[in-house]
Amino acid sequence: MAHAPSASALPRVKISPRGVARLKSGHVWVYRSDIVSAEGVAPGSVVTVADQRGKPLGTALYSSSSQIAIRMIAHEPVADFPALLRQRIAAAIAYRATLVRDTDAYRIVFSEADFLPGLIVDRYNDILSLQILTQAMDDKLAREAVISELTHRMNPASVVERVDPRVRELEKLPPRPSDLLHGDETSTIFTMNGVRFHYDALEGQKTGAFLDQRENYAAAAQYARGEALDVFCYQGGFALHLAPRCSHVTGIDSSRPALEVADENAALNHRDIEWIEANAFDLLKDYAAAGHHYDAVVLDPPAFAKTKRDLDSAMRGYKELNLRALKMLRPGGILVTCSCSYHVNQSSFLEMLSDAALDAHRTLRLIEVRVQAKDHPVLLNVPETAYLKCIISCVT
Ligand code: SAH
Repeated sequence: MAHAPSASALPRVKISPRGVARLKSGHVWVYRSDIVSAEGVAPGSVVTVADQRGKPLGTALYSSSSQIAIRMIAHEPVADFPALLRQRIAAAIAYRATLVRDTDAYRIVFSEADFLPGLIVDRYNDILSLQILTQAMDDKLAREAVISELTHRMNPASVVERVDPRVRELEKLPPRPSDLLHGDETSTIFTMNGVRFHYDALEGQKTGAFLDQRENYAAAAQYARGEALDVFCYQGGFALHLAPRCSHVTGIDSSRPALEVADENAALNHRDIEWIEANAFDLLKDYAAAGHHYDAVVLDPPAFAKTKRDLDSAMRGYKELNLRALKMLRPGGILVTCSCSYHVNQSSFLEMLSDAALDAHRTLRLIEVRVQAKDHPVLLNVPETAYLKCIISCVT
């Protein structure tokens, strides 16, 4: 991608009235179906977006292959994209300084929510892990600006890039491996809410941990007691937070590598937690049939609804899990139930939960209706940025 020396020289993409209306509503995306002309615009270009008559609407990043063809970055012309990236990264770091507490692991940059579409950066103590999700962010000058600004501001021991091969394929970017971009340290220990976790920068799911649950871990720990079950426990995020308050904690996950780290994390925190490798659906069914009971159950499954089409089967999956958990909870027991599917909105998730309670013949009292941690900001006019739900309730 060539960076234009002046804004007037930026290539121009014209969009339909529907695309214009979407931007006017405060959204930052325009879909390919709303592109009227983008002739000769190179993949990953910084472009001027205009309506059909040619009136400029702002500056955006263009993707030649994603269904999201346009991601707005500014209302005004942008003459120097790398300089804008540097400013935005500095602003994202400053924002976290105002609202992140009790942790050295948090999200520094959350793509659109930090006005840096296609860039995710997580901090795990002294290691930064980044993901590049769009053509424009993969540009050599953009990458250099991102890495040098991050190293300048945060002084990390290393910076690692985590690659999702599917994303690169969708963006028609050449494959590349996950790798160190700066420094040579690939493992560390990070701490959140006083709980310590092993971190291996080139292993694990996402960028390594589920940082979006950090505040929900602390909230769940306030209410849980007795015998607790952490279903879909991964490396033990909830289980480790519940352990100090509970008499016994069991974590279930289908991933053996995740449970191996969970076990190391338990040792690191001097906790005795039972880890079970199993399919959660089968195990909950067996446990319910065998009459197992708990005082606290956490359900934090992977996103069941990756697209709108999956919505019906996703809702059935959530309901089955919640129903089984409710049947196993003792009176006064705590249910912490989560969904990270953007397509399942908060009201339908609550509706599913009330249906499950009816079917289980249990009455639920809501304690907290929670969202993702504050370092994963939500833009009110970009609903896609709000994806995590965490409902804490008490069974009577
Ligand atoms: N609660 C975790 C994050 C869970 S992510 C935390 O706070 O860190 C979802 C987890 O579900 C992953 O670890 C994945 O391995 C696991 N998983 C996916 N399908 C599963 C299934 N059918 N049964 C059990 N675990 C499953």
